[in-house]
Amino acid sequence: MDYRCAHRWAFPRWGAALEPHEDRLEAPAGREVTVRVTHCGICHSDLHIQQGGFDMGGGKLSSLERAGAALPVTMGHEIGGEVVEVGPEVADVKVGDRVVVYPWLGCGTCPTCEAGDDHLCNRGARNLGIQLPGGYADLVRVPHERYLVPIGGLDPARAATFACAGITAYGAISKLPEAGPEDWIAVIGCGGVGMTAVALLSALSKAKVVAVDPDPVKRETAQRYGAALAVDPGAADAARTIVKASGNNVLGAVDFVGAESSSTLATALVRRGGKVVIVGLFGGEFRTPVPMFPLKAMTVQGSYVAGLNELRELVALAQRVTLPEIPLTMRPMSEVNRSLEDLAAGRVVGRVVLQP
Ligand SMILES: [Zn+2]
Ligand SMILES: [Zn+2]
Repeated sequence: MDYRCAHRWAFPRWGAALEPHEDRLEAPAGREVTVRVTHCGICHSDLHIQQGGFDMGGGKLSSLERAGAALPVTMGHEIGGEVVEVGPEVADVKVGDRVVVYPWLGCGTCPTCEAGDDHLCNRGARNLGIQLPGGYADLVRVPHERYLVPIGGLDPARAATFACAGITAYGAISKLPEAGPEDWIAVIGCGGVGMTAVALLSALSKAKVVAVDPDPVKRETAQRYGAALAVDPGAADAARTIVKASGNNVLGAVDFVGAESSSTLATALVRRGGKVVIVGLFGGEFRTPVPMFPLKAMTVQGSYVAGLNELRELVALAQRVTLPEIPLTMRPMSEVNRSLEDLAAGRVVGRVVLQP
């Protein structure tokens, strides 16, 4: 295989289907690394990236073009693979290492990035799969070796999904208050990320989990991964059912949808002193009566993917304890367009992982 020629699936216009592209790569410089992609998970945010932005409510769209993305865009930010070429200054990884790639890159040099919080960098994003070419390709160039996390004996397909679904779920539940066995946590939206949160909470938290999703298959899957209760948010009495079943003890609600209806449900569910963590980027506006904040002494916090350190923690955790596993569907990378369509239509349970 020629490690200087990347075969990528990229869209040439916002909203267009992905097409095969061929790109020459220079020899890796400094601490750059080339990774041969063996697995790349498909994420729901790819649908937004493909459209060029996120729905900010009131008909407004955030612009990825203003955020530094340039056409053609090669998506794919859940990248697992093997190191095949390293720059002359690379010291900590070597050719042949099996890695998951941290994709949420910032400028790489500011104090925020140096602390491992690249995802919160204010100086300009260089995310793999948005601004820089991502993993819908056979090769990926990573700007610095520190963004590679060795996976040891972990299943590489599963480890790839840690880079977004895994750390997004892990970063969100890490923000929840300490919960006891009498407490409940609501997980709203049980796609790949929400289902991972259900699985992680079942393994790590003492609280009982209520899964909320309109799809009966996803509700049933969530219960197999440890949810004590699963509720259809479309049911007329959904909020009342959950509050009653928990004894009005929902300490935290994580909204993996991020729509007006889901955030309204989340704030309605939590008890006094509770916390809502908003993760999803479906879009819309947050509408909650202002007096609810003081009257419930409620906290609302946003959570956006997570840092490099959290990816390292999650990989270490997965090596130490057996985490319940969300279903993965493997497909050849040539089926990327069909897979994105299936995801848009809600036909995916768990995660689709592509292989070049
Ligand atoms: Zn993602
Ligand atoms: Zn930075």
